[in-house]
Amino acid sequence: MRNLISKKERNLIMNSYIIDDHTWLKDLLETRPSLRISEVPEEHRVDFEYVVPYILKQCGDEWKGDESVLHPVEDLGDERRPCGLCGRENRYIYYIQNRLNGKKMNVGGDCVEDYVDIDFLREGNSRGKLLRRAKEIRKRSILNQRFPGIQNRIDTWLNRSGKSNVVLPLSIEEPYLNIGNKLQDLHNAFLRGEDNEMILNEMEDILNEEAGYITRFDEYIQLNKDHKFIATKSIMTWLENRRDRKTMESLKQYGFVTKETISFIWEKGFIERNIDSFNQLFESTIFKIIEVDFDNEGFVIQSDHSRVIMIIRFDKFMSNFGERVLGESTKAAFSDNNIVKLSSIYGSNSPYIFRDELKKKLKTWSVGISMTDEDAELNQVYLYDRRKKDYVQVKLSELIAEAKGIVFGLSNPDRKKFEKYVHEKEGKRYTHNELRDIRSISSQMANTPIR
Ligand SMILES: [Zn+2]
Repeated sequence: MRNLISKKERNLIMNSYIIDDHTWLKDLLETRPSLRISEVPEEHRVDFEYVVPYILKQCGDEWKGDESVLHPVEDLGDERRPCGLCGRENRYIYYIQNRLNGKKMNVGGDCVEDYVDIDFLREGNSRGKLLRRAKEIRKRSILNQRFPGIQNRIDTWLNRSGKSNVVLPLSIEEPYLNIGNKLQDLHNAFLRGEDNEMILNEMEDILNEEAGYITRFDEYIQLNKDHKFIATKSIMTWLENRRDRKTMESLKQYGFVTKETISFIWEKGFIERNIDSFNQLFESTIFKIIEVDFDNEGFVIQSDHSRVIMIIRFDKFMSNFGERVLGESTKAAFSDNNIVKLSSIYGSNSPYIFRDELKKKLKTWSVGISMTDEDAELNQVYLYDRRKKDYVQVKLSELIAEAKGIVFGLSNPDRKKFEKYVHEKEGKRYTHNELRDIRSISSQMANTPIR
């Protein structure tokens, strides 16, 4: 909101073409070096607040020239002359010229910089365009007399639904935006010169409806903002970053996360709002959520049967089981086996805990496992075949994928299946002594500094 016209602005306005359209302002400025809103009579306050900003912009544009104004045309030597805008005494004198009334003003080097604008001229701000705009500003004055601050009201109208974190469904928002655009069109038509009372009356009818819409919005937001499945702006931004237009459209359509969209949403706020439901889902399993890791995007889970900690990523969880949060069924059963299958081990200690626990489980089986710390760092492990008394190397990550179920006491894989896996694992087989040699060489290499 504008509440002051400075000395410099006053001098600019008084020398500009447009001031003759606004005689109330000219009369006030004639007798004052600057003007505060408190000095403006009540009947002109609306114009001061809402139209003067346009007048000032127009004044600036009336005087804008090309870069030639940057070269001082006079050097007064020891003499000084006051700048026509700010009044400061100057040695180097520049001239700016008004493109509508032809007036010339001498200014100093600081003030002249405001009037150099090559882009402005390139945009085709011709004399004709400036005159058209001056006419529009007269119309703005008429509009603001009837609807104070109308431009702001229209801007607010068109951006209102952007303010709350709740996404308004199309059925509520669309009619409001359509009518807001209509208001803007009428406003622009009036400025362009289709000057008739009908336009103003139609605008008034629309403006009278605004309060009703706002009430509806507020009621909708109040009623739904704490709903666990409410579509929020944060979810929309998150989907936008994932370029998931389809899910965004559906949320906009319904205003809520539905079974069509839930599999695609694991935005932080959404996960947090529904954490109770996630916890509850796990109650039917041997696992529970011990932490939600938003950096790694997953539920960190653990069971009573093992010290191994696992993470099931949100994307895997939601795409397989998401609809269950809404009480719907999913193709995949929410079973211990499936959870283990979709999870990976979590934390730097877990490989060793996994090894120790697996070793214990395999004690009476015909296979075993051997993994040193160095092996683990190289992502490898040796499986032992007790009958043939030989070892085969496998990737640690592969073994974990194969044997997770054993550690968690699940039915898959059973003893027979895992023994078969070890017996038939392809790859070079090593005797106990051979394995010892390999390890001592690799450990020597690791400990020998490279020369
Ligand atoms: Zn100056």
